[in-house]
Amino acid sequence: MHNRELLLRWVAGENIHVMEPDSECCPDFACCQSRNYFSPTMRARFLRAIDEKDTNTVMLMTYMAIQGLYASQGVNMRIVGEESGNA
Ligand SMILES: [Zn+2]
Repeated sequence: MHNRELLLRWVAGENIHVMEPDSECCPDFACCQSRNYFSPTMRARFLRAIDEKDTNTVMLMTYMAIQGLYASQGVNMRIVGEESGNA
């Protein structure tokens, strides 16, 4: 299945984990979690950022997705130098 098609199906709410030729998750890792992390609005925003080559937004949302993945496994991930908000 082509990347673009997978992306469009993800935006439409389908969380497909690709097994071949390499293991590949959808952008918010919803395929490997028991919940949909990105709302439909966020998924559409992510697609728009890709289409507009808005690298900052793609990177920020990818970071948010990784945080969500860690949180789903009970790990509170922070990057050194990041404000904790409750220090
Ligand atoms: Zn996955």
